[in-house]
Amino acid sequence: MTDPLCSLRAAHEFAGQAPEVGGQLLELALERARNQESGRRPIHAFLSLAEPPPDAWRAASRSPAGSPLAGIPVAVKDNICTLGLPTTCGSRILEAYVSPFAATAVRRLERAGAWIVGKTNLDEFAMGSSTETSAYGPTRNPVDLDRVPGGSSGGSAAAVAAGVVPVALGSSTGGSVRQPAAMCGVVGVKPTYGRVSRYGLVAFASSLDHIGVFARSVRDAAHVLEAIAGCDEHDATSGRQEVPRAAALDDVDLSGAVIGVPGEYLGAGLDGRSRRLFKRAVETAERGGARVVPISLPTTSAAIACYYVVAPAEASANLARYDGSRYGLRSSGAVAYSEAVRRTRGEGFGDEVRRRILLGTYVLSAGYSEAYYRRARDMRGAILEDFGRAFARVDAVFAPTTPTHAFRFGEKADPYDMYRSDVYTVAANLAGIPAVSIPIGNVDGLPVGAQLMCGRWREEQMLGIAAALEELLEYRHPLTRR
Ligand code: GLN
Repeated sequence: MTDPLCSLRAAHEFAGQAPEVGGQLLELALERARNQESGRRPIHAFLSLAEPPPDAWRAASRSPAGSPLAGIPVAVKDNICTLGLPTTCGSRILEAYVSPFAATAVRRLERAGAWIVGKTNLDEFAMGSSTETSAYGPTRNPVDLDRVPGGSSGGSAAAVAAGVVPVALGSSTGGSVRQPAAMCGVVGVKPTYGRVSRYGLVAFASSLDHIGVFARSVRDAAHVLEAIAGCDEHDATSGRQEVPRAAALDDVDLSGAVIGVPGEYLGAGLDGRSRRLFKRAVETAERGGARVVPISLPTTSAAIACYYVVAPAEASANLARYDGSRYGLRSSGAVAYSEAVRRTRGEGFGDEVRRRILLGTYVLSAGYSEAYYRRARDMRGAILEDFGRAFARVDAVFAPTTPTHAFRFGEKADPYDMYRSDVYTVAANLAGIPAVSIPIGNVDGLPVGAQLMCGRWREEQMLGIAAALEELLEYRHPLTRR
């Protein structure tokens, strides 16, 4: 029998036998979530788990008939607010913090009948590319426990890859959905900026923050996106455009699609074996009838520098709210207010978060903002124009997601090495365009991904091309049970 938690369809086939059996799905997901926390080297994908009452399945199966998410167990990154479970952002400063409201995306998932199984581990405040900066310890890659799952949504990617849940929510500011998806061998979707409400997503860099989706197939990711997308009165940046329909995937044909491959994404930084796999994926797309053309995105090499100015600048402002007076940690013993703030932030934030706040404050400070922030903002405009020119010629841009497969713990101790692992993902965030990473093969048993990017609001087309390619690639995950 197919594993009931490997896809939405398998879950429904399992649950379709009887509503009571549907309840067992939640139990199964929770049991697996508990199991991945045990053992000598736990995966540690979760920071907290739901404790549903014994007849929880009744509530879960009360969902709208025919909803593809009815009774489906879902994991949620711990920087997305939920009721009844803590939202820690992987930080000491929000230890045990429970939000008084749920994120719009979470509310929409629950309305569609999904069940939140637990909150997943992340780099502290989503700052990182390996899930190593979580104050609650790292998450391990389920494919190889000596390696990172990628980040910052490493817990969500690992939970899906390990078969705990078929789908999960993550967030992406510079690549935190596509990058861990690639490293764990699953699908990761970052929608258009404004497609999914950010209400209840704890802010890191507001002009770059997105909620995204993990799944084991493009189709499953499309169902989740359909459920959570759409305008929201609580987020003024959310768009009124029509929600992308999962059913539209079938209407998109790979034959006739024009796909551009940017030479800048195939440079010296790309691992040779990943390059070969990517070339094979390009050939597969051509075999499927796509016309593949070389293109140029000249701003690619500047995107990382641009991102690491803009993101810390916005972060330094957003994180000013953690002063110990409103929520989360408050250091004891200080008499004066300024001393209390200093101590709270000193005790509550880890090294990477402090580095970002310092960097962000610096690039915004008088005398330096012209040299750094202004120039980064101008560069962001140039990146946007680059993509604009590309999408006048091609339907989608196809490129590797990451320069290498999953690396070992501690391997990127130098922050610059870590930052460079985002070289292929940050541009789509800076431009606000949708992007999806799909697995294209394994190198030494470790997953490698490639991403498709499309023009703003073109998720239906992007996911359609991705689904067609996924079918032709016939990827086999290293953990697939035989
Ligand atoms: N790795 C990038 C960073 O550290 C992106 C993180 C993210 O997308 N949340 O900022």
